[in-house]
Amino acid sequence: MNEILNLTVNEMPQTEFDCSCGRHHNFSVHEMSIRKGAIEDLPKMAEPFKDGKILVVFDNNTYKVAGKKAVELLKENGFNVKELLFDTGDDILIPDEKTLGRIVQEQDLDTSLMIAVGSGVINDSVKFVTSRSKLPYIVVATAPSMDGYVADGAPIFSQGHKYSPVAHLTYGLVGDTDILKTAPDDLIQAGFGDMVGKITAIADWDLSVKANGDYRCDTCVELTNRAMKITFDSCDKLPERDPEALGNLLEGLTLTGVAMALVNISRPASGAEHMLSHFWEMDWVERGLNPNHHGIQVGVATPVIARFFEEMEDLLPEGVKELCPSHEEIEALLQRGGAPYRPQQINISRELFHESLLKGYMVRPRYSIMQFAKDKGRLEAIADKITADIYDN
Ligand SMILES: [Zn+2]
Ligand SMILES: [Zn+2]
Repeated sequence: MNEILNLTVNEMPQTEFDCSCGRHHNFSVHEMSIRKGAIEDLPKMAEPFKDGKILVVFDNNTYKVAGKKAVELLKENGFNVKELLFDTGDDILIPDEKTLGRIVQEQDLDTSLMIAVGSGVINDSVKFVTSRSKLPYIVVATAPSMDGYVADGAPIFSQGHKYSPVAHLTYGLVGDTDILKTAPDDLIQAGFGDMVGKITAIADWDLSVKANGDYRCDTCVELTNRAMKITFDSCDKLPERDPEALGNLLEGLTLTGVAMALVNISRPASGAEHMLSHFWEMDWVERGLNPNHHGIQVGVATPVIARFFEEMEDLLPEGVKELCPSHEEIEALLQRGGAPYRPQQINISRELFHESLLKGYMVRPRYSIMQFAKDKGRLEAIADKITADIYDN
């Protein structure tokens, strides 16, 4: 029972067990290698698909930092390799019909595996296409920017609208710390912000269990707690791109990904802080602007949600408040890791901020501290107070 807790992250693939929560869990990713020099493991990981052609997908940036090396290694080891470069220049690649269609066109009849070299759009696009064409894919991570490497959803665009259809899990994950240290600062900050968000995600989950009778898996809570500890212990070294700290961040993000994959819900990694982030993102997209990175917004939203826990303290079920540090402590943590910690720093207007506190609970039908405040009749007063505290002082 709960054997997965005795394994290192690289040992977790293909683990199946009966859990103390009463469910049977299965983590079906086949291979993970997170370490210095992990790219060298790529040919071994791809070995079962050597009979067919390997389509390697990258853009200009990811080609330089990892794609070139991946292609060289595969060719040296006798693989039949085809390359697909998205030459986007200064434009941002969007995971829309054009990008997805291009990947489908380059998939030959004898393609047996795709390799996504990238962190965001390339990963999501290859994940989506291979799920529909029923091919396995391996992702070579180029930034520790999010927890979606071992998640089965793929955020993509259809006719201008973003949605996140279920795709499938990767066959393998390569996380080479020598590659991660080339990631842009804002992507590192995003990954760190997404990890900081797990603080309120876990507190929110506990509240939902106690106030709303929701399901909980203690094994997954433990995995997320472990992920936070690994990441936060070395986060002071993230701004200087220390490879070990970056590896720890990717390991933390991957552990929460494992937790989500075990229970097939995002609860272990996402609570009210993600609802605020999604509310802000939708507003930016509606106005035709490029939103901030997901994780940067999540990080900024986390001390805001901590303030909700502070304001509701007298009504919280026993043991919930202890799971959420003060908003000052969380702001200090974000600063240690070099990430933004106040909404003004990422250009969230006072008006949008106030609106998000009032309506954020409606972003998705999931119980949270914001729903709790609403149910207790305090939402408006809290929204006014937090907005004034942050914007007027
Ligand atoms: Zn997230
Ligand atoms: Zn469980």
